[in-house]
Amino acid sequence: MSSAQTDVIVIGGGLSGLSAAKLLREKGLDVLVLEARDRVGGRTYTVQRDNVSYVDLGGAYVGPTQNRLLRLAKEFGVKTYLTNEVEDLAFYQKGRTHRFKGAFPPMRNFLAHMDLNNLFRLMDKLGKEIPAAAPWKAPDAEKLDNMTMQEFFDQHVWTKETKAFGSQFVQVNVTSEPYEISALWFLWYVQGAGGPFRIYATSNGGQERKFVGGSQQISDLIAERIGPGQASIIEPRCVSRSAGETSVTVQCINGQKFHAKYAVVATPLPLQNKMTYEPPLPSLRNQLIQRIPMGSVIKTFMYYKKPFWRENGFCGSAAIDDDGAIIGFTLDDVKPDGNHPALMGFILADKARQYVDMSTDERKRRISQLYCKVFQSEKALKPVHYEEMNWLGEQWSGGCYTTLMPPGFLTKFGKEIRKPFGERASREILHDLGKIRADEIWQDEPENDEVIAREFVSTFWERNLPSVPGFLKLAGMTSLLSAVAVGAFLYHRFK
Ligand SMILES: Cc1cc2nc3c(=O)[nH]c(=O)nc-3n(C[C@H](O)[C@H](O)[C@H](O)COP(=O)(O)OP(=O)(O)OC[C@H]3O[C@@H](n4cnc5c(N)ncnc54)[C@H](O)[C@@H]3O)c2cc1C
Repeated sequence: MSSAQTDVIVIGGGLSGLSAAKLLREKGLDVLVLEARDRVGGRTYTVQRDNVSYVDLGGAYVGPTQNRLLRLAKEFGVKTYLTNEVEDLAFYQKGRTHRFKGAFPPMRNFLAHMDLNNLFRLMDKLGKEIPAAAPWKAPDAEKLDNMTMQEFFDQHVWTKETKAFGSQFVQVNVTSEPYEISALWFLWYVQGAGGPFRIYATSNGGQERKFVGGSQQISDLIAERIGPGQASIIEPRCVSRSAGETSVTVQCINGQKFHAKYAVVATPLPLQNKMTYEPPLPSLRNQLIQRIPMGSVIKTFMYYKKPFWRENGFCGSAAIDDDGAIIGFTLDDVKPDGNHPALMGFILADKARQYVDMSTDERKRRISQLYCKVFQSEKALKPVHYEEMNWLGEQWSGGCYTTLMPPGFLTKFGKEIRKPFGERASREILHDLGKIRADEIWQDEPENDEVIAREFVSTFWERNLPSVPGFLKLAGMTSLLSAVAVGAFLYHRFK
């Protein structure tokens, strides 16, 4: 069997692995990237179609604060364009569509409105108290980590409408259900993405832009630059690693062996449990990779002759809160040149699990029927093309968008995850080789000069509106004071 020697082996040719490999190559090291699929890009996956051009079936959106990705895109000349949010957004609930502008849909009664305002204010406040690099050090870390997000909602949310929207917020952001994730993890994750407003918003938020030509290009272009030659992308699946004092051997399924001074494993955490290790992994790392699942999502695109939703005054963004609805969230997906109008829709979490065994035709039929109701047009029933990608069945992703952390995980195993990975792993190696100083290992990324993060400015009412229990207490106190005042008045008047 063939055998090769290099400085660093990177296992996994997604954005993390390739950006790590790129940095090492730039510092003059020999790098070999081992990738299980017959393509690079991992969870970013752009397919080319004759009739609708390119389609981003995996990760696609990018926005302010994602400065590392924006820096890479700029370096390779990959441009971004804005997701359409000119017309009204739609909030579909109990069979009715409500139009709105801004990040969050309006609640229909005053109590629910106060409740939603309080929930997001609380999530923002708690999130800001969680240290990004050490979430287990947050105030009440254990308490929050031992609680699911469902329990968090049960404790802090009073109205059915806000609870339902809270669930939708979890499903859209982390493709899982509130009952399966740790509250500490979710609050930390949301904060890591810039807070509850940034993560959910389109304009000035996580869904602000897409890449012209598709997101997988960035990985393709990095791979092209670092290989072939000393750094090359090859296909075999890495199944074992043996580490000595100064070297690592990686053996692939087909028997090929590769030797290096260092190895960077840049695959989703749960998939690291598919590899075998000699000597075995440290105890906590061994247990960690058994306890961290991936989310569940099917990404869909429904193509139409014309963007009929825009004609009806909708921009294409819809938050859908309806037990019977197959899709939970949509966005406009018209190409930047105005061609190939489509609606992107996510089938999320429990719904993805529920609908995954249905036929593609049946999913397509249900989605177009739903769009007919949400965007109030029979034209939705006449799509010209349909694309979908079921990420639940992807062997080399395990699910998507990302991993989720169940209760108790972050405080018990979090420190193990902080062990080096991605560009930081490369800098740890460079430091070990004496090529950079210790204080250069962690580097903040400067803000992208084109995609600027504007502050989300809250109104006086958003800052000061009481919570539901606060309001009830105030109302109770007010009635008590009025009763006392009326009593005192009557007493003095008629005594
Ligand atoms: C439907 C969907 C929507 C998303 N939306 C967004 C979004 O809008 N914005 C956003 O920022 N992010 C989004 N994401 C998430 C984003 O795509 C990922 O976070 C990112 O691509 C992860 O990159 P990575 O390199 O860390 O991991 P991956 O892309 O998973 O790369 C890991 C690589 O390792 C390979 N591999 C696995 N096991 C082995 C093995 N044993 N040997 C060799 N190779 C192996 C895999 O094939 C893969 O190529 C989305 C993802 C999906 C699927």
